Amino acid sequence: MKICIVGGGPAGLYFAILMKRLDASHDIVIFERDGPDDTFGWGIVFSDQTFGYLESSDAPSFTRIIETCQTWNNVDIVHRGEKVTIRGNRFSGIARLAFLNILHRRCHELGVDIRFRTNITNRAQLPEHDLFVGADGANSVTRQWFSDVLAPSVDQRKNKYLWLGTPQLFHGLTLTFHQTDKGTFVAHAYKFSENMSTFIVECGEETWARAGLEGKSDDETCAYLQDIFAEDLAGRPLLTNNFVRWINFPLVRNRHWQSGNVVLLGDALHTAHFSIGSGTKLALEDAIALAQAFEHNDGVEAVLPTFEQARKPVVDQLQDAAQSSLTWFEQMDDYMDLQPIFLAYEAMTRSGRVSREKLRLRDPEFVAACERGSLERG
Ligand SMILES: Cc1cc2nc3c(=O)[nH]c(=O)nc-3n(C[C@H](O)[C@H](O)[C@H](O)COP(=O)(O)OP(=O)(O)OC[C@H]3O[C@@H](n4cnc5c(N)ncnc54)[C@H](O)[C@@H]3O)c2cc1C
Repeated sequence: MKICIVGGGPAGLYFAILMKRLDASHDIVIFERDGPDDTFGWGIVFSDQTFGYLESSDAPSFTRIIETCQTWNNVDIVHRGEKVTIRGNRFSGIARLAFLNILHRRCHELGVDIRFRTNITNRAQLPEHDLFVGADGANSVTRQWFSDVLAPSVDQRKNKYLWLGTPQLFHGLTLTFHQTDKGTFVAHAYKFSENMSTFIVECGEETWARAGLEGKSDDETCAYLQDIFAEDLAGRPLLTNNFVRWINFPLVRNRHWQSGNVVLLGDALHTAHFSIGSGTKLALEDAIALAQAFEHNDGVEAVLPTFEQARKPVVDQLQDAAQSSLTWFEQMDDYMDLQPIFLAYEAMTRSGRVSREKLRLRDPEFVAACERGSLERG
């Protein structure tokens, strides 16, 4: 089969690897706009469950991924300078670039043809193919080509966020809240290598406007945010990838996922707010589900509907949880009067996926402390 993939992110690369494993004679080409060592962003985060899927899908890449990961089991919530630690949440962080390089290497081993620095802008650029995969991310061009049949929607959410890095190490998934005279800022931070952490700053649109962040240069923006998070950064700098871009989170959905021999994967198909850390996980699981549909069925036009039927309900559920989480952050000003332990409880249960009993299993001491605090409060 001739497979043409636009987008060499986690979804496109991993799908190519799995299809080559299924049948080495597949002729697979990936068109990727960037070079192999360009990347936007810093680190990504995985749960243990994602690791289970990766191990059973492709052991060689899995081994390289775990060798490169940083692992922790705590979520820390920092409010009014007080840190509340919640244990029992196992996560691993890895640099996005290191992760992509592992997948590039595996693609090369298996004979996938990756054409770097090739920006696809129209369909005439594509070679003849039996299957077309649009894996070109949240701002997908290929989604637009098929918008009449796939019926996509993109909801630009209210909060602004910015993806930064720092050499300050956050040993756990750390949410740090700061109330300022302009409004609330929160940082989502975690280490992804021995010397770097991801540091995503998020705030409401009004807070962002009052703080005069529009039009500030990279240096001015970093200086402003370093001042707000001074204690947390302990004098270490915030770093950009050479350009500051505040983003309104695009919530992408598609009513239909496929048509004829065309299918979308990953962020082109659906996004999930970074506060539940699941964009890469979803992209990889899409790739696994689509490859499995090829394992069990014949003929592209029979396989693609099977993939959609099996996978869409799972993704819909995760997008609902991610939406509850992003809405919580849009309303975070309302929670700032809470004491740190109660804010931590609200933050841990915000997506609706973690109940008090689930939390008790992960960290009984934390839940007992919340309950004691509630009794004392009356
Ligand atoms: C601030 C932020 C924080 C995040 N944190 C996490 C996290 O902690 N954990 C996590 O799991 N996920 C996280 N994500 C999400 C994650 O980055 C994506 O969800 C994930 O990479 C999706 O994979 P993908 O392959 O679908 O798309 P992408 O990774 O976006 O890859 C798409 C690829 O297509 C290429 N491309 C686009 N257009 C074209 C074109 N016209 N021609 C050729 N190539 C093209 C792009 O260059 C890119 O390489 C975060 C995202 C953001 C924005």
